[in-house]
Amino acid sequence: MHELAIAQAILDRAKAASERNGGGRVTKIGLRIGEISGVEPDALAFGIEALSKNTPFEGLALEIEQPRRKLRCAACAAEFEPEAFAYACPACQNLSSECIAGNELDVSFIELEDPPCA
Ligand SMILES: [Zn+2]
Repeated sequence: MHELAIAQAILDRAKAASERNGGGRVTKIGLRIGEISGVEPDALAFGIEALSKNTPFEGLALEIEQPRRKLRCAACAAEFEPEAFAYACPACQNLSSECIAGNELDVSFIELEDPPCA
């Protein structure tokens, strides 16, 4: 399952962040999942929950942002959020554009508790 592999990669990054910071417990992970990233946020959240059971990650909070798809017109550089399957630039009707948002899949932050006192 696609989302499960991504969930594992995210937990690996959280684990690495925790180790770099003296082993503090990860309390929260912020994710940006664009609406056309091909990743289902609910499935990803479920995967993270399933994989973190009985690990130090159990009970961590997720904050998921879902940026809308945004295009930039190749002719006039107008930026717009296209409606469904209409890609024409609202300013000049040009049909050629590049995607500048909405396809991201990023970890935006990893929140850690202070490491336990030695
Ligand atoms: Zn345009």
